[in-house]
Amino acid sequence: MLTSSSISEYRAWRKSLKLKDGELVGFFPTMGALHEGHLDLCRAAKEKCAVVVSSIFVNPAQFAPHEDLDKYPRQQEEDLKKLRELGVDMVFLPNNEIMYPPGYDTWVQADVGSGRNEGAVRPHFFRGVATVCTKLFNIVQPDMVFFGQKDAQQCVVIQHIVRDLNMDIEVVIVPTRREADGLAMSSRNQYLTGEMRAKAPVVYKALCKAKEMIEASKERNADKVREGMKEVLSQEPLVQIQYASVLSTDTLLEVEEVESKVLIAIAVMLGSTRLIDNMIVHSG
Ligand code: AMP
Repeated sequence: MLTSSSISEYRAWRKSLKLKDGELVGFFPTMGALHEGHLDLCRAAKEKCAVVVSSIFVNPAQFAPHEDLDKYPRQQEEDLKKLRELGVDMVFLPNNEIMYPPGYDTWVQADVGSGRNEGAVRPHFFRGVATVCTKLFNIVQPDMVFFGQKDAQQCVVIQHIVRDLNMDIEVVIVPTRREADGLAMSSRNQYLTGEMRAKAPVVYKALCKAKEMIEASKERNADKVREGMKEVLSQEPLVQIQYASVLSTDTLLEVEEVESKVLIAIAVMLGSTRLIDNMIVHSG
């Protein structure tokens, strides 16, 4: 497995690849502190692509000043070991100066990410994600990119920038990997104290409640589903709800009525740790 921190060095390697007809380059970007969810992206990429590239970059552009950029877990040696074991070919490891040199002033924004749910709670977030992914796609030159369903709104933003900016890239969405008790794996789960960790599966329980209401009880009033999720979440007094949403999977707007499929999405604070999770639920 190769690593590179230099764009020109990476490009020279990319140009030197002797791909046969139909052989593809797959790419999954990460911020490191890799867990099995990230590794599922890797496995999916290995299945479909002859060459697999990953990146580890804690992107400052997607953190607000009050957020956890400085304390975000960094464990590069362990991460590289995991990627090597899975047979990744190249890991791109840029730093802030390479990605955002002095004078940097170009930003990418998909309107679908703005002002809704994640975009409302973290207004800077999707501009940072869309910008860094556009830059990484331009550098890495992948045929396929792999993103986790765990970050559902991010997936829609990526699908929109690929479509709207005419990128010749296929976006593959990989299912959310969960712990045995349902908690979605996340690098930020490391922040949870023992007490908080024990309470964290309430988010998954609330998603399951929404799924049960829609699928088994045929509830079609989205407000009732939101109330159902909030009821479950409020059983844990330490949980502060940021949103418990029933969204259109296309527009990411809150729906009034549950028709065909909807995206059920939750964000909470558990102490100082932010947890997000989601499920796509089919009503018909
Ligand atoms: P991050 O390192 O948090 O920026 O995540 C990098 C990629 O891994 C994104 O596409 C995430 O959606 C994906 N990812 C994170 N957690 C999970 C999970 N539990 N299951 C599947 N994919 C995940």
